[in-house]
Amino acid sequence: MSKVAHYLQEHLTGEVMTSPDARRYFATDGSILALLPSIIVYPQNENDIRKACRFTWQLAERGRVIPMTPRGAGTDQGGGALGTGIMMAFPAHMNRVIEFDSKSGVVIVEPGLNYGKLQQTLQTHGRFLPPFPASYEYSTVGGAVANNASGEKTVKYGSTIDYVRGLRVVLANGEVIDTYRLNKRELNKKLGLSTFEGEIYRSLDTLLDENKTVIESMVRSTTKNAAGYNLADIKRKDGTFDLTPLFVGSQGTLGVISEITMETEVYNPQTTLIVAHFDTMEDVQAAVIEIKEKVDAPSAIEMVDKHLLEQVEAINPNQLKGTVEAPYPAAVLLIEFDDGDRAQHKNVKKAKKILERYTSKVQEETDPQAQEKLWKIRHSSATVVTHNAGTRKALPIIEDGIVPLDKFREYITGVYDIFSRLRLEVAVWGHAGDANLHMQPYLDLNQVGDRQQVFRLMDEYYNLVISLGGSTSGEHNDGRLRAPYLEKMYGSEVYNLFRKIKKVCDPYGTMNPGVKLDVSLESIKPMVRTQFSMEHLYDHLPRS
Ligand SMILES: Cc1cc2nc3c(=O)[nH]c(=O)nc-3n(C[C@H](O)[C@H](O)[C@H](O)COP(=O)(O)OP(=O)(O)OC[C@H]3O[C@@H](n4cnc5c(N)ncnc54)[C@H](O)[C@@H]3O)c2cc1C
Repeated sequence: MSKVAHYLQEHLTGEVMTSPDARRYFATDGSILALLPSIIVYPQNENDIRKACRFTWQLAERGRVIPMTPRGAGTDQGGGALGTGIMMAFPAHMNRVIEFDSKSGVVIVEPGLNYGKLQQTLQTHGRFLPPFPASYEYSTVGGAVANNASGEKTVKYGSTIDYVRGLRVVLANGEVIDTYRLNKRELNKKLGLSTFEGEIYRSLDTLLDENKTVIESMVRSTTKNAAGYNLADIKRKDGTFDLTPLFVGSQGTLGVISEITMETEVYNPQTTLIVAHFDTMEDVQAAVIEIKEKVDAPSAIEMVDKHLLEQVEAINPNQLKGTVEAPYPAAVLLIEFDDGDRAQHKNVKKAKKILERYTSKVQEETDPQAQEKLWKIRHSSATVVTHNAGTRKALPIIEDGIVPLDKFREYITGVYDIFSRLRLEVAVWGHAGDANLHMQPYLDLNQVGDRQQVFRLMDEYYNLVISLGGSTSGEHNDGRLRAPYLEKMYGSEVYNLFRKIKKVCDPYGTMNPGVKLDVSLESIKPMVRTQFSMEHLYDHLPRS
């Protein structure tokens, strides 16, 4: 065991491991990349995180940089949960609901808490956390916050960032801060602190003031965006200031989240589901835009395309039986409403009227069991994601682009075009109401040609998304894989501002380095695994 591991073992309450098995387990996440960490730490409490950060800071002051990577369940699809130094794994011990106020619905949790468990607990109190990712049954709340995750309910309810009221964060030097919206007086107090926290508030306040127009230029015309740092809502016009939006979605690159305070919503399990079949993507785009404009908030607008249905049928001919029959339409939309009885009835009626102008195949369902069966159309994407086509596997490399809604058709046509040019089988699914689509091409990472295809595909795809005014990530975040496209997407002024902010919060580069910023495509090529598998996720069926 190294001196560093030995020191940590002596000073932390939680376990410290350096066995090859443990290191190998944490060398992969949900991405196509691999990096071997040197030490695994299972923090028992915030004090353990604090001590570990303090120690790496002191070493870095003396010129030795040991990266610190926080980790939830490791389902990240961009390599954000990988690192070469200390892997800090939260689910083992820091997995509790600390407090739940059933009146206000505010819940305080530790980051390693399983998202599915939290959801179950909340639902027993008639509440839920709407921006849950498809992976919620096997991922953590901390991971969702650090990724600014979202999912099928985001079209109505927003992303994780809209639910985080405050955080406790362990800074790079081991100091602990509480983030929440500060009024002017509270901000002034922070600005006067002689601590690292004070330094962060002072530097950020100045940077945000000096770069107002740069920050304004960051805003996308997309409904959500998980790429880069959230700078737009830190300092408001009324002078209030909150570091929470900065840490949400920052993937452990600015600090380690040790406690999360979140708001929740009232949960209504009595929903109506409408399933509509479309012959063209033009009609899909037009219908979605009209519904979003004219009908009060559907709680989901999800889509699968014809190619996905064809692939599912080829893999498992019985899976779609009784839900959708071949020959398949260009796309199937699943639109859900979860308002109260009267409003739901009214909104469903309005939505159906709009849909019936675009397609004659519209089905309405209120029975939960029948709905569950229909939802399988959308969730059948998991069959494609977990299937091996010979030695080829479905790879998450371009799985999360988002564009403005009025560019949806161009986006899909562009994707079909790229796949056809590169002679790859295409299948597309995802959040039509947000124009946020998922796709995972079949490639064999053991073949040199296919490894080259990965990078060709990423280049073409991300150029398409950026050219349409979109974002490289709607919900899965940058990690390592998408990080090389961040500067192209935001431009060099915004990118340099990101760098300055990183430098303020992490002056020695110990906080999850190599994630989000200063990553070149060349630097990640050696990290690409030769075998892609989701081994540590196979305990659960991915609901992709
Ligand atoms: C099949 C499949 C489907 C998916 N579907 C979705 C989806 O619908 N929507 C979506 O948003 N994502 C999705 N994802 C991506 C991912 O599962 C989610 O973003 C999830 O919320 C990550 O949680 P995790 O616990 O696995 O985090 P991890 O993968 O462990 O970590 C994610 C990032 O957060 C950082 N992090 C973790 N804990 C902390 C902490 N305490 N402090 C600071 N940083 C921390 C990590 O360093 C890493 O950068 C999917 C992944 C898979 C494999």
